[in-house]
Amino acid sequence: MEKILRTIESARRLLVTAHAEPDGDAVGSMLALGLALERTGREVVFYNESPIPAVYRFLPGVERIERRLPEGAAPETAVILDCAGFERVGQAAAAIARIPCVINIDHHASNPGFGTLCLIDETACATAEIVFRLIGALGIAPDRRIATCLYTGILTDTGSFRFSNTNEAAFAVSLTLVRCGVNPSEVAQHVYGSYSLGRIKLLNLALDSIEISPNGKLSMMTVTRAMLAETRTQPEDADGLINYARRIKDVRVAALIQEQPPNGTEGERPRLHVSLRSDGSVDVAEYAAAFGGGGHRRAAGFQIDAGLAEVKARLLGWAERMG
Ligand code: 5GP
Ligand code: MN
Repeated sequence: MEKILRTIESARRLLVTAHAEPDGDAVGSMLALGLALERTGREVVFYNESPIPAVYRFLPGVERIERRLPEGAAPETAVILDCAGFERVGQAAAAIARIPCVINIDHHASNPGFGTLCLIDETACATAEIVFRLIGALGIAPDRRIATCLYTGILTDTGSFRFSNTNEAAFAVSLTLVRCGVNPSEVAQHVYGSYSLGRIKLLNLALDSIEISPNGKLSMMTVTRAMLAETRTQPEDADGLINYARRIKDVRVAALIQEQPPNGTEGERPRLHVSLRSDGSVDVAEYAAAFGGGGHRRAAGFQIDAGLAEVKARLLGWAERMG
């Protein structure tokens, strides 16, 4: 923390970024840190490879996030937030690796500790909790805008204060943020309050795709590109759907298998992303790591270059081995 504070304090131009296909913690953490640094007169480039999901577009400063690294910006320091692995920032990883100082701030237990400096606290409920502490240590009092971004990160990563990462700090930091002017019901309305019709129809297709392993310990849900096309939805609309598969009685692990957007190569087979959730009895980060992915004990994921049938067969084989 001390070294990171000194590095940030001596930097004039910084890049803040987070993982591609960002969630509320990724967007909230990068905006909060970037806005705080700007308040101290620093130049900040906000970068994320993916479009920001509609439910987070109310966040203050969101219009500042660029999908391309601006040419000639030459930041001296990059802060990478909520990325379990360096490759999670996406295609700009190589360019970002050339920035003289890379600071890795995260709360994933599986984070390998990439970067020049890192601050990884797996006991933090969200990366936003760590960013809150960092901003405080920099002597910056969060204003309503910054507080709203941090609160959204904590709210969404703790599943509205329900998941096992909901710790004392989740409430303590949130209380401080509410005192800084956050309106919890307004945030909840933006994040959870309104679904497009397409998203409801996608939910219907996704629920219909659920399959259960013969021993009942694993549930699998599939979201294909065809389902997105049929319902006119985006990959972001599949966010949270896995929770339905996870809630099924006696299920220990839920998997959401999602076809990735095309990469532009003709005739390519869609790559698959597998999201995993467990009830805590199975370490899904360990399973994901075997495929080069990662995450936490109860929530992890990986990408795989294989067909749908093969991935399902592998998952079913794993279910059989669950004691
Ligand atoms: P989600 O299923 O919501 O995409 O991700 C669940 C958790 O697993 C998150 O903490 C996320 O960082 C991690 N995760 C998901 N997909 C990947 C992946 O492809 N690689 C790595 N290293 N972590 C992932
Ligand atoms: Mn997070």
